[in-house]
Amino acid sequence: MSSPKLFAPGPIDVSPETYAAMTRTMIGHRGKDFEELYASLQPGLKEIFGTTRPVFLSTSSAWGVMEGALRNLVREKVLCLCCGAFSDKWFSVAKSMGYAADKVQVEWGEAIDPEAVRAKLEEGGFDTVTFIHSETSTGVLNDLPAIAKVVKSFPDVMFIVDTVSSLSTVPVDFDANQVDVMIAGVQKALALPPGLAVFAVSEDAMKRAETIPNRGYYFDFVEFAKNAEKNNTPSTPAIATLFGLQYILSKIADEGFENRIARHAKTNAMVHEWGAKHGFEIFAQEGYRSQALTCFKTPENFDQSAFIKTLKDKHGFLINGGYGKIKGLTFRISNMGNETVATMQELIDAMDDVLG
Ligand SMILES: *Cc1c(COP(=O)(O)O)cnc(C)c1O
Repeated sequence: MSSPKLFAPGPIDVSPETYAAMTRTMIGHRGKDFEELYASLQPGLKEIFGTTRPVFLSTSSAWGVMEGALRNLVREKVLCLCCGAFSDKWFSVAKSMGYAADKVQVEWGEAIDPEAVRAKLEEGGFDTVTFIHSETSTGVLNDLPAIAKVVKSFPDVMFIVDTVSSLSTVPVDFDANQVDVMIAGVQKALALPPGLAVFAVSEDAMKRAETIPNRGYYFDFVEFAKNAEKNNTPSTPAIATLFGLQYILSKIADEGFENRIARHAKTNAMVHEWGAKHGFEIFAQEGYRSQALTCFKTPENFDQSAFIKTLKDKHGFLINGGYGKIKGLTFRISNMGNETVATMQELIDAMDDVLG
């Protein structure tokens, strides 16, 4: 039985070429071959992050580094900017780690308001902020430059940004936005199998981390930085996934980063047009919509589960029936990764066929 092709927002479809790249003969991670592999990834990763800083490789899902970033940076109190399932959960994770935490909460489907962030930070006492650029549960793309500007106007407040479903679909500009930690998992827009997260850390955040006790080992930023100088990782990385990453980065270089962004804009617009044609409303606030996925409201008399099931059984395409507390009330379609106008058209034709 072959599995359906994934148009759900992560993990997404992995190409046969990527799998093929991952079947290279295994290498040890403390030798010259590995150092070369590690170094070869840096230019491509720096380009998609928009940074001159090293990009670290964590053998974990994104949550490992999302939790690790708190462990490295929080002194006393963290402010979590909450607008959906993943950003809301970051708040509960912070509390579960024993930190004092507060939040700016907006209705799901809305974007974070920079002025609400300013007002909250003016209350004082916060040393770290968590923020999700593309909230995958609602399809909202928050205004990263505007939020960054507010957060960075408060000295000594560290700005942690999750770009799990935005990295390589829109510019994220780590340096220009003065982000302190930026995190992404590779199973979303980078179209790799799960198990690896990539992240960058500012100089200020490195200095902060050095002053924080009890950072542990596995996610210790200081360990990552020390090893990066030797083109290496603190512990044994997911080497096969790194072979895959090397291949994907070479594809991004071939296509050109700007062309990749333009392709995502185009394929995302195709999904929006398809929805408009059938009267499906977009869940995310206008002007703040992810270019990686689309979250539609489920109309009242629409049998969403039958639609998703027939699309899967008849056409072999899997979309997603909503996440968190809007499961069932929404459905989501991804255009991330390797999808083109032609492959998105195949999905659209199949969805049209199911709708009849
Ligand atoms: C998928 C996702 C996560 C969680 O990633 P894991 O790899 O499952 O840890 C976090 N944030 C966002 C925005 C996501 O889309």
